[in-house]
Amino acid sequence: MRKILIVVDMQNDFVTGALGSEDAQRILPGVRAKIEAYHKEDAEVIFTRDTHGEDYMQTNEGKHLPVPHCMKGTEGWQICSALTEGLCAEKDYTVVDKPSFGYTGWLDVIAAQEADGSDLQIELIGVCTDICVASNALILKAFYPEATVRVDASCCAGVTKEAHTAALQTMKSCQVEVTNEV
Ligand SMILES: [Zn+2]
Repeated sequence: MRKILIVVDMQNDFVTGALGSEDAQRILPGVRAKIEAYHKEDAEVIFTRDTHGEDYMQTNEGKHLPVPHCMKGTEGWQICSALTEGLCAEKDYTVVDKPSFGYTGWLDVIAAQEADGSDLQIELIGVCTDICVASNALILKAFYPEATVRVDASCCAGVTKEAHTAALQTMKSCQVEVTNEV
């Protein structure tokens, strides 16, 4: 079994910046511990980065959410240093820049041995539970129907607590395994 941890959008803008939240700050230690655990067993870690350009306000996302964030190259776009400093060297992880909620390049990034994903155990954590975590969990289920796709609820934060809980329920309905739900 190939174990892969996907850390979704744990960037400064989603934690302490333009779209930051206390819930996102609260999960930082748990997310760090999880990354550490994967490193210890030599498993793969992939960070995703929400990535926007100068035209953000003209994009569909910008029209619905008129708060510029994660502009490529800015401090807000960077992954929280608390998740890499003293923990990961750049060779220890892969970074995926994604222009929208769900990433469509997973087949190339993961390059699974088995096309149906039967050799994969994928765990997702990060923010926001109800947007990018859910989008990518469901995309991965579509690409890899035989993979185990898991979400650790204690290492995810939603736009609101209600949206977080609702997204976990939707993912469970779609046979994503949800662990550590309180
Ligand atoms: Zn965005």
